[in-house]
Amino acid sequence: SLDGVPMTVLHDDSYHGMLFLFQDVSDIRRLERMRSEFVANVSHELKTPVAAVQGFAETLLSGGVNDEDTARSFLKIIYDEGDRLNRLIGDILDLSKIESRRIQLDYAPVHVLTLFQSVSKVLEGSAEQKRIEIRLQVPEELFVEADEDRLRQIFINLVGNGISYTPEGGRVTIKVEEFLHGEYDEDRVRFSIADNGLGIPKKDLPRIFERFYRVDKARSRSSGGTGLGLSIVKHLVELHRGTISVESEFGIGSTFIVELPVLQENP
Ligand code: ADP
Repeated sequence: SLDGVPMTVLHDDSYHGMLFLFQDVSDIRRLERMRSEFVANVSHELKTPVAAVQGFAETLLSGGVNDEDTARSFLKIIYDEGDRLNRLIGDILDLSKIESRRIQLDYAPVHVLTLFQSVSKVLEGSAEQKRIEIRLQVPEELFVEADEDRLRQIFINLVGNGISYTPEGGRVTIKVEEFLHGEYDEDRVRFSIADNGLGIPKKDLPRIFERFYRVDKARSRSSGGTGLGLSIVKHLVELHRGTISVESEFGIGSTFIVELPVLQENP
């Protein structure tokens, strides 16, 4: 009780201590709410493919499908939904590992051009299917200090999204530039991943890094997306002491910009 405490206590450290305590409690409530929302989202996302697997398997088991083509198409759906479950579970585990800081970044010099050649190689198949050109504008001799596997994961996600959300015949341009200090207080590398695809409506832009947030659920699903890619990417960029931002115009295209310090120290 504050009864009998002189007013001067308001300028005392103990008063500030109390304020911080209240702040902490509301933070805990907010985190708790976010956590239970996430669990609800996860359950919903997992139930959809499980229901599809069960439904199609049940129909096949009941002997209701006589022609082979229909049976095969049902099996294909079951296989694809299993695949989707796998990706979802992988992303959920990855996100939870990253958010609880249970990952250790393994810093080493990464040759940027080689990195993007391998990113392009991984995505070559899906780009070719849609006749999308991946254009590299990367300096020959540039290195960054980073966790190479995590850096590859970041850019496979961003370039992969560029391919997913761009119509046939489009283009994804990867541009890398170095900024020496003077402009920034430390040397930085800027990676821009630009597509001339669907673009993102202005009202959705502030939310696309949230877990499970998708502009168009059906399109994300059909492109194999889990809705977790960008939130994983944002965490990984920030673990590297970098920043990520997006510029987009609906119907024109999107550019994701990642900036990383050139020199990193192992935290
Ligand atoms: P998803 O698995 O759905 O692709 P992400 O977290 O990677 O999930 O992206 C979230 C949402 O942001 C996507 O569903 C899509 O609506 C939007 N988005 C991401 N990248 C792009 C892009 N290059 N062009 C247009 N929309 C994009």
